[in-house]
Amino acid sequence: MRYLIDKLSIKNDLSQEELEVLLTNLTEEDRDYLIDKAYEVRKQYYGNTVFFRGLIEISNICKCDCFYCGIRASNKKASRYRLSKEEILECCYRGYSLGYRTFVFQGGEDSYFSDELLESIIKTLKGKYSDIAITLSLGERGEESFKRLYEAGADRYLLRHETVNEKLYKELHPNMSLDNRKKCLEYLKEIGYQVGSGFLIGLPGLKLTDYAKDLIFLKKLKPHMVGIGPFIPHEDTPLKNENGGTAYDTITLLAIIRLLLPDVLLPATTALGTIDPKGREKGFKAGANVIMPNLSPMECRKKYALYNGKVFLGKESAEEKLKIENSILEAGFQPVLTRGDNVRWKRK
Ligand code: SAH
Repeated sequence: MRYLIDKLSIKNDLSQEELEVLLTNLTEEDRDYLIDKAYEVRKQYYGNTVFFRGLIEISNICKCDCFYCGIRASNKKASRYRLSKEEILECCYRGYSLGYRTFVFQGGEDSYFSDELLESIIKTLKGKYSDIAITLSLGERGEESFKRLYEAGADRYLLRHETVNEKLYKELHPNMSLDNRKKCLEYLKEIGYQVGSGFLIGLPGLKLTDYAKDLIFLKKLKPHMVGIGPFIPHEDTPLKNENGGTAYDTITLLAIIRLLLPDVLLPATTALGTIDPKGREKGFKAGANVIMPNLSPMECRKKYALYNGKVFLGKESAEEKLKIENSILEAGFQPVLTRGDNVRWKRK
């Protein structure tokens, strides 16, 4: 398989068929070689840096009913919350004083967060701080809405495509469509956002080779950020008895993504850290270069349960940050708290 790994590292490209061959035949030694190559490319583009993003989980109220997700609308056991504007600003002020310069607002599709409300939060923050980036991860919205939020000062938008398998997408996302998800990603790019997409690893029925199609989709989309992570079953969802994705496969795919999209911002996700205590450090060695510590109020973190067993480090944000910084330093990487934009991006 080395010739395909070499080709991938030189050309930053492979066909779907070649990716399938690679994924089917990857031995332990090949995988080590792949990870070494991804690490070289990461070093070339980003050195040993790991960018910090402060994650604020603004609401677990959601109109969607995604089968894998713990905050799906049908989960009557979820204890629901949403943060007020003041609470969100408070999280950012605290984050700023800890050194964070990127704030990620993530949440369910909660209509309480109107364009007006989000605009006023974004403008307040951008008016106060000139050196921050704001990332939104609030699901599908209309083109006009995306535009307004960009003009208000939002810089980045994360919207995973979850899977390009049309049939599976339909089964897992009632009343949603892969087409609309893709349309949203196109709008976001067109408007000028730094765009992140990505997929879940280990969804029921998928084999490692199936991700060749997701990889080709990402290669064509050319996102500035890619978020991939293992699917982890949540006990109050229809997928509670399914097997989740593995850290092993996630790390293999992180390495391939680093080689396909060499300058991409690639988080080692909380989900990866949840299924393997050393998962995030292994992720950094395979090409990941972003981490998203939690800045949400402590009492909300348990309620924002997308999956079982979410890891909590430390009793509050400052302690958590210190622990994460230490583990990153120990693994031989350098924590960085500046905005950390993708080098390809400039605000329109
Ligand atoms: N409403 C937003 C944010 C969703 S939560 C949106 O639609 O984009 C962010 C990500 O968590 C999702 O994109 C999904 O890939 C992931 N996620 C949801 N449930 C999960 C689970 N059970 N295991 C692992 N990741 C999950």
